[in-house]
Amino acid sequence: MTVTRTEAELLASVPDGLFIGGRWVRASADRTLDVFDPATGLLLKRVADATPDDGVSALDAAVAASAEWAATAPRVRGELLRSAFDLLQQRRDEVALLITLEMGKPLPEAAGEVAYGGEFLRWFAEEAVRVSGRYGTNPDGTGQMVVSRKPVGPCYLITPWNFPLAMATRKIAPALAAGCTVVVKPAELTPLTTLFLAGLLEEVGLPSGVLNIITTTDAAGVSERIIADPRLRKLSFTGSTRVGRILMKQAADTVLRTSMELGGNAPFVVFDDADLDKAVDGAMLAKFRNAGQACTAANRFLVHSSVAAEFARCLAVRVSELRPGRGTEPGVGIGPLITDGAVDAVDELVQDAVSHGAAIVTGGRRVAGPGSFYEPTVLTGVPAGSRILQHEIFGPVATIVEFDTETEAVRLANDTEYGLVAYVHTEGLARGQRMIAALETGMMGLNVGAVSDAAAPFGGVKQSGLGREGGLEGIHEYLSTKYTLVQTG
Ligand code: NAD
Repeated sequence: MTVTRTEAELLASVPDGLFIGGRWVRASADRTLDVFDPATGLLLKRVADATPDDGVSALDAAVAASAEWAATAPRVRGELLRSAFDLLQQRRDEVALLITLEMGKPLPEAAGEVAYGGEFLRWFAEEAVRVSGRYGTNPDGTGQMVVSRKPVGPCYLITPWNFPLAMATRKIAPALAAGCTVVVKPAELTPLTTLFLAGLLEEVGLPSGVLNIITTTDAAGVSERIIADPRLRKLSFTGSTRVGRILMKQAADTVLRTSMELGGNAPFVVFDDADLDKAVDGAMLAKFRNAGQACTAANRFLVHSSVAAEFARCLAVRVSELRPGRGTEPGVGIGPLITDGAVDAVDELVQDAVSHGAAIVTGGRRVAGPGSFYEPTVLTGVPAGSRILQHEIFGPVATIVEFDTETEAVRLANDTEYGLVAYVHTEGLARGQRMIAALETGMMGLNVGAVSDAAAPFGGVKQSGLGREGGLEGIHEYLSTKYTLVQTG
């Protein structure tokens, strides 16, 4: 199998250098990193592999551009983001194809990511002009209190591979809207979409140095140097809780402001009064979109014992209809996992659950190569305490656990160190309200299987992270608050 001519032309159009100070440059050690198609294992493209020194050069450029960008009128910053949104719409088919090629998700899902990811450009284009402070008389009447907001300064943005466009725009758009300059480090497995996006932002006339991109296989070395630099004012990271902890320790040395979008272990609770068809629709979305490789993926299906068998049967029917394959092929319902290592990790969790008594209703095996595929899987009777219930599965495996009472459902749902999102299916209004109050989570979907929206604050509690992206809150991650007292009496 080879790439098609359209794919080859698209790949050739993606910049392959580091984007530093408005110029595309080679890595200083002249090394490159290889980007592969996870559905075929074929090499897609080679791009620059930055050294820590290159990372510092990117930060130099962001620092040099910082004062002028902060002083640029919010309307101008907003209009640049809006132009980028418009250009992205014109190029959306190319971006979707690029996402599918490097990350693997089926094309319709990639188109969905382009729509979602693009919205951050539009939303924060609109928010750029709505940043305001407060003004008021102090309590003893002797002065005026002025609270104003300023851009925090140069930011370092690190993104994961599972949503290569949306994870980038969710950080870049609010940072730029707020008046911050940025250095972006995309995941080494999927850097092409970010490089393409940088090309679009360059095309709409973003000033040099405002956006800098470094691609590297040395994420740890490059990041450590940048984070240690006192000129950096903010770190925003999306990725695993494990790496988030490392970065928070590094950030402590300079008391660096951080936002952390980390892992999840979402419960998906189905009560006996749920609309089961709706619950199965929601489950398909929450679990099998992106082949389960989402921080918001449902990890544990907690189902009332009176409906568990029926739910498992209906879910298994729908799951067995998902055809695995390369995401560019029509009719493919589920793409590959990102690497063979990811397939090994998922299989190991499934085998461990089965060895402790779980039953496979459908799936449960790797799919023969080429490519990194795992069968969409449903497991029932997963024993409490199984590793698969405690870890992010990050693969297309639904685990079903039964409960009998609402109290037990809440206890099981909250029995995790994570708290990113929870899904609840019930037709009972009062029960829905009780669950909103009881679940320890940053986000919740009531009778739906997906909650993400550029207009809403995305983020977690507990070890799922700190801070929010999107919504009214998103831009405040990139603003600092200054208070001034003006003596009047
Ligand atoms: P990861 O933590 O391995 O990598 C994320 C990013 O960090 C990548 O760019 C990687 O190159 C970089 N990185 C890795 N080690 C580093 C180090 N020592 N120092 C600095 N940077 C380093 O995660 P991943 O496998 O790319 O993504 C999957 C994880 O991301 C899952 O845990 C998922 O839940 C999480 N995620 C969270 C959200 C959210 O919004 N909460 C969204 C998507 C993904």
